Amino acid sequence: MILTRIFGKVRNSTRLLILSSVLLVLIAILLGSSYAHEEADKSYREDISQHAVSIVYKIDSFFDEANNLASQVATMWYVPCKKSEYNLKKLVASSNVARSATILHNNNVYCSSVYKLGREDLDTSTFRKTITLLASNHITPNSPVVGYKLVKGDWAALIGINANVFSRILENDQYKDNLFFAIDNKLLNDSEKVFWLQSIEEANNILSVKSIKYPFKVMIKINSVSFWDYVYTRYIIFFILIATIALIETLYITLTSAKRDMKRAIAADEFIPYYQLVVTSSSYRWHGMEVLIRWQHPKLGLVEPIKFIPLAERSKLVVPMTRQLMIKVAHDLVPYIDVLPNPFVISFNISASHLYEPTLLVDCQNFLAKFPSNKIVLVLELTEGQLIEPSERLDRLFDTFHQIGVRVAIDDFGTGYSNLAYLQKLKIDKLKIDRMFVSMIYTTTEAQYLVDTIISLAKQLKLKLVAEGVETHEQLQYLTDHKVDYIQGFLFSRPAPIQEMIKDVLQPSSIVRSFQQFSIFNENI
Ligand code: C2E
Ligand code: CA
Ligand code: CA
Repeated sequence: MILTRIFGKVRNSTRLLILSSVLLVLIAILLGSSYAHEEADKSYREDISQHAVSIVYKIDSFFDEANNLASQVATMWYVPCKKSEYNLKKLVASSNVARSATILHNNNVYCSSVYKLGREDLDTSTFRKTITLLASNHITPNSPVVGYKLVKGDWAALIGINANVFSRILENDQYKDNLFFAIDNKLLNDSEKVFWLQSIEEANNILSVKSIKYPFKVMIKINSVSFWDYVYTRYIIFFILIATIALIETLYITLTSAKRDMKRAIAADEFIPYYQLVVTSSSYRWHGMEVLIRWQHPKLGLVEPIKFIPLAERSKLVVPMTRQLMIKVAHDLVPYIDVLPNPFVISFNISASHLYEPTLLVDCQNFLAKFPSNKIVLVLELTEGQLIEPSERLDRLFDTFHQIGVRVAIDDFGTGYSNLAYLQKLKIDKLKIDRMFVSMIYTTTEAQYLVDTIISLAKQLKLKLVAEGVETHEQLQYLTDHKVDYIQGFLFSRPAPIQEMIKDVLQPSSIVRSFQQFSIFNENI
């Protein structure tokens, strides 16, 4: 549905071409990504295991030192404790790794660097293996400890290592949150916490590397990137680029095809004039008509100007379009020239971008030349929102317009940003109060205040005033009371083709029903 809307105006073949190329590129990206993702995952795992090996080596070196200390302790096995106690303390003091050194005989404390360590203080059964990890023990109740044991016969040397030695290695590592030092079924993490292996075994994607020298391993929880995340992070820029290109391409094609369609429509004479009556407020006599363009589209039916004027302005097609409209209006009106009030005002809407086109003057002259002189007053309506800077050039242009019998009106008055001083500088003839203000009449106090302000502002300019969008008798009454000169709106007439409009001139009864005084007799502008 969105695609239909986006591509709505593009020809089917182009649409198919764009869609299939985008699809092909996407398929190629996905296939390529699948292979690249597998490769990337493989090399990521390889990198991680390499990394784990390097940590194993670091930890090995601590156990090497512990083993070295244990060998030195072993030389004191048969020596009376009193003699070796001092040496044990010295060994511990000079080591970066050991926190204690203890000699066990028949699994009982024989001698220790720890002051007065007795049989009951150390549960030697917990140190059954070469390396043991304990969450705490009697000596260090608050921090984990690792024991390294060297055994020969009844004798053993036990080196106590503070677990923070290992935690520090983990802590300084790039994978620290996912890195563990594992002994048997216990794990130590970077914040010196000991927990059971099962709790991380549940998590899949664990890579573990065993030490060849000592019974421990290093485990890293792998955060493998999922295929879609991989595609997303790697190709997001590319996708944005493709989407932008596709969007620009589509917009370009849509716009150029809309412009092409508009050019075709000009050639096919599809732009037609509708007319809306303007009456005098004093006696509801016919004053003139505003020409409102319509596009008689072969597929879309009757299209309103708001839908195509902006593009016509951007593409400058508004110039030939208006010229064609003027020719058609002249063609429509010439047969009725004798029954129209004299003079009769015909207003055209002119875009600001059209104003400086030299052809506009010629087009106006050609238009007026179709009628007996002084029979028609041609008015160009310029929207206030698109107003141009007052300048000498503009002055000269407006002077020339006046010389050939063309008047200038400011349309949608009140909606633009122009102030009184600015408007006074422009040589304009007429103001059209925007229908937004007319619709506010007798609504809220604030809105009414706004309407009063706009009307008094317009009055200060001492120009002829037209109120557009008049729909109710109350609005009409208010505008008449406030001496607005001319009235335009659905109350009197809706925009219609000339045949319908002129019916009222020929048979005034059809719309005069509600306005007895509604008359075709002329009124000077
Ligand atoms: P606009 O010049 O302000 O024209 C008045 C618009 O208000 C017309 O809409 C008309 O149908 C509508 N209207 C008139 N009386 C009433 C009323 O009592 N109640 C309501 N609700 N609406 C009313 P339309 O014909 O759709 O034209 C819209 C705009 O398109 C025009 O606004 C004008 O700015 C522009 N436009 C129309 N024809 C041309 C043209 O030939 N060239 C250019 N450049 N612009 C045009
Ligand atoms: Ca207008
Ligand atoms: Ca308006």
